[in-house]
Amino acid sequence: MYNPKSNKAEEFISHEEILETLAYAEANKENFELIDSIIAKAGECKGLTHREASVLLACEDEKKIQEMYALAEQIKQKLYGNRIVMFAPLYLSNYCVNGCTYCPYHAKNKTIPRKKLTQEEVKKEVIALQDMGHKRLAIEAGEDPVNNPIEYILECIKTIYSIQHKNGAIRRVNVNIAATTVENYKKLEEAGIGTYILFQETYHKESYEALHPTGPKHNYAYHTEAMDRAMQGGLDDVGLGVLFGLERYKYEFAGLLMHAEHLEAVYGVGPHTISVPRIKNADDIDASSFENGISDETFAKLCALIRLAVPYTGMIVSTRESQAVREKVLRLGVSQLSGGSRTTVGGYQEDERPNDTAQFDVSDQRTLDEVVHWLMELGYIPSFCTACYREGRTGDRFMSLCKSGQIQNCCHPNALMTLKEYLMDYAAQDTKALGEALIQAQLDGIPKEKVKEICKDRLQKIEQGIRDFRF
Ligand code: SAM
Repeated sequence: MYNPKSNKAEEFISHEEILETLAYAEANKENFELIDSIIAKAGECKGLTHREASVLLACEDEKKIQEMYALAEQIKQKLYGNRIVMFAPLYLSNYCVNGCTYCPYHAKNKTIPRKKLTQEEVKKEVIALQDMGHKRLAIEAGEDPVNNPIEYILECIKTIYSIQHKNGAIRRVNVNIAATTVENYKKLEEAGIGTYILFQETYHKESYEALHPTGPKHNYAYHTEAMDRAMQGGLDDVGLGVLFGLERYKYEFAGLLMHAEHLEAVYGVGPHTISVPRIKNADDIDASSFENGISDETFAKLCALIRLAVPYTGMIVSTRESQAVREKVLRLGVSQLSGGSRTTVGGYQEDERPNDTAQFDVSDQRTLDEVVHWLMELGYIPSFCTACYREGRTGDRFMSLCKSGQIQNCCHPNALMTLKEYLMDYAAQDTKALGEALIQAQLDGIPKEKVKEICKDRLQKIEQGIRDFRF
């Protein structure tokens, strides 16, 4: 029985409701009156239900699709401006007891060396990341209660936050680790993490169980209810995601939006972010053997429709995607990008890209500076901002900032100031020149005169060597 307020996975992600949604969407995919009314509703930036959004996804009319894309661009511009938040993943350990059939870290893979960073190695990785200019990390680890217990993760977080090297600092650590208990989520909250990220992989229970044949991750309900436990543990910024390619994308899209609706219905706050990873080749994983792979076109459509359906939820694209695909989806709604990523354990200290422990093959292999340069050439402002959670603007407080329209007086100057820090401390000469001109041109985008003046003053102070201003 479908019930978005239920605390049971099978009820808030109801298989029957998804099937009915897909049938409804298919039956209405040429109902242009309905489609127009859904597009008009999305234009009010109030979001769409999973049923409404599924109708748009089913629609194959090229003209309507272009309308959806145009609206996604408009919403993106209105709510996120041209800011793109930058981050990097940090792989702590590839020890894993699960049997995920798409992941090279699965326990039966005997060909990859298993590695877990010591605190000394964490420190070296963090210094390498700071020296690139990163301020925000997403830590990643396999699930292994013996090798990677919560105490290990907490120790790593403490180490990461403690490292001050030159002007560097990691100011926000997001955490992507396996589903755990309320008590452990509380500990993560106390450790001062940013977002807790956990990909559902697939919302289709039967497929989920087949794709996770062994290990604790096999338990669909425990995995699907993880965000509820995270919220109960006090983590109110949570990040959802689907690994596209495992199941039919229309099914996943409906499930993903139902998950967001569930969090909103029960906790009054939807997901902070949604990630859209696509399955990639990796050690013993052949992505082409998964028959539900999606084309670049479908991927773009999904990104645009997520932007329409949950306008206030940030959208993350990793280096699994190529430069060309990233460029396309940035326009359609993506708000966060990783750059200069290494998906190997200990990869940032290596000069070469050793692929022996990589979780997936990286498509976009450019350095962070190249990505920053490219973004600015496209007219975006790469932002290294981490202000919100440090100012206590998490969960519904963050959402009210978005909805109040005050973002331009807050996120925009924060983006400019953190970009300025990057330019001063890490950028190549030509990136610096491009960035300085961009900052000057973008100052007028701050609506409040007073905020603009403070921002100008702080930009000067950054030139003088002072760091870490924020609104
Ligand atoms: N082990 C943790 C868990 O269970 O959620 C941490 C996450 S794992 C390090 C990060 C994510 O990478 C997974 O949730 C999965 O969606 C994705 N992933 C795994 N194998 C992949 C592959 N071959 N290609 C692309 N993404 C992959």
